[in-house]
Amino acid sequence: MGSRLPPMPKISEIVKMYKLSATKKLSQNFLLDMNVCHKFVKCISVTKGMYICEVGPGPGGITRALLESDALKVHVIEKDSRFIPPLEILRAASGGRLEVHLGDAKHFDIGGTFPLDYSRPWLRNIPNMNIVGNLPFNVSLGLLLQWLEQISNRSGPWRHGRVPMTLTFQHEVAERLLAEKNSEHRCRLSIMCQHLCKVRYRYHIPGKVFVPPPKVHAAVVNLEPLKIPLINQSFPVVQKVTAAIFHYRQKHIRRGAKDLFPSAMTGLVDELFRLSDVDPTHRSFTLTMEEWSRLCDTYANFCNEYPRLLDYNYRDPNSRLLMEETVPVSLNVSDVK
Ligand code: SAM
Repeated sequence: MGSRLPPMPKISEIVKMYKLSATKKLSQNFLLDMNVCHKFVKCISVTKGMYICEVGPGPGGITRALLESDALKVHVIEKDSRFIPPLEILRAASGGRLEVHLGDAKHFDIGGTFPLDYSRPWLRNIPNMNIVGNLPFNVSLGLLLQWLEQISNRSGPWRHGRVPMTLTFQHEVAERLLAEKNSEHRCRLSIMCQHLCKVRYRYHIPGKVFVPPPKVHAAVVNLEPLKIPLINQSFPVVQKVTAAIFHYRQKHIRRGAKDLFPSAMTGLVDELFRLSDVDPTHRSFTLTMEEWSRLCDTYANFCNEYPRLLDYNYRDPNSRLLMEETVPVSLNVSDVK
């Protein structure tokens, strides 16, 4: 199965031909070994007719492997213009299956690369689309958070349905994405990710496989949006509650929760735990997803009651002042439904 490309120079030769040295400032580390690129593409389980959007193709190793699969169409988005000429060579050889875009994946309308007739209702099967990328590690984490918010809103590429992703991360970040309750790696990212997606660890990529080799190892991770999120609240609510409570990892969760409320509303801290039926003396990494869900539900109810609460930031003196002006000084917690 798969498609054949006409004979072409090796990716390593293309890198030499175009003098495409990796830029340290942009954390560029390339996959030049086609066996490694094919292994990456195997994790996508490309089915006939699939549309794929690859972010950060660089010299095009993974792109070439994608074109040798059953994918019908591959769009690539590359920020560094030095890579456009070699990608254009690949495009010319692709028989119309590759589109090359110069742009920043953060601002690019990835959803626009997928055809509307491939969209599937959210609760139906997965659309025949995929987003893939071996991006610089610092970029992939920022993009993932942006994409999780879009998954939560069903916007961007997720207006087409539950589009899966296959991405590389620094190995340590992959551990955090996957960490279960009680794991030393469990953190805000674990909750943000797992409440919206089924996360699967695919395989470990030793640092030495990249050119030049980074000091850290990498891992390939699949993320598939869940039909129904495990926490039924908006992205900002989940982000705020998890950030505050994980902030004091080694302390009782009550300590972090205090930062969610201005001093005039301190009475709500105990109410948060009572109404959520969560023990305030637990530690953040021991909480189950159900407990996170109840905490977020209760906090969202408080935010509905006090609309400025969600924007309250204990670190910002202006925000503290604003809340103190709007909240009765001695808030009676029984007022809060
Ligand atoms: N995927 C290629 C590979 O495996 O050999 C290149 C990997 S290199 C780690 C990351 C690539 O992503 C670079 O080509 C870099 O220019 C590109 N890149 C970085 N940030 C980007 C962004 N925000 N949007 C698009 N491309 C980006």
